[in-house]
Amino acid sequence: MYNCVYCFEKIKPSGILNYVLNQQLLCEICNNQLKQLHKTYQIGSHQAFVLFEYNDFFEKILFQYKENKDTYLIKLFQPQLHKQLKKYRLPIIIPPSNRKNFHPLKYLLKDFEVLDVFQKTKHYKQSLQNSQNRHKIKNIIQLKTTTLPQKAIFFDDVVTSGNTLKHCVDLLNQHNCTVIIVVLSLHKDHKNQF
Ligand SMILES: [Zn+2]
Repeated sequence: MYNCVYCFEKIKPSGILNYVLNQQLLCEICNNQLKQLHKTYQIGSHQAFVLFEYNDFFEKILFQYKENKDTYLIKLFQPQLHKQLKKYRLPIIIPPSNRKNFHPLKYLLKDFEVLDVFQKTKHYKQSLQNSQNRHKIKNIIQLKTTTLPQKAIFFDDVVTSGNTLKHCVDLLNQHNCTVIIVVLSLHKDHKNQF
């Protein structure tokens, strides 16, 4: 008998074959909260392929992973993410980060070529990422190199307002770098608004 990797409740197999084949990681209650999207969404003038809905459950999983370094939890989404990214055989560009030691996106993409081409010009908080502050993002995120591939994947783990994504992709496009956008999770309140 296995336990749910998130809540640690015992997993009741829904059928022995299903249980063995899927190697269930989540109990039924948790599994019902993990919403798969696997769809392309329009974010501003860009199209992004999104794997999961960013809801309360996904927020908790990502928090456990990123802040508490509970790397076991990435088993819930890493296989699907890697499968999607491997289709393109392209380097992956990630948004800038303030993190020094544990870098969750780089860890998540450790089998891929990851290009860290952005920098933040000054410290900024997540709270700046709402639409009223859109103009500020332009002053905060810049390219630290203009040596860019002609084609790449732009990857982010969470898209809420979409402003960071739009700004980063616009900057890359302005420097003749075309990107395919892959997003791990898109905020449920924004899913239908772009
Ligand atoms: Zn559970």
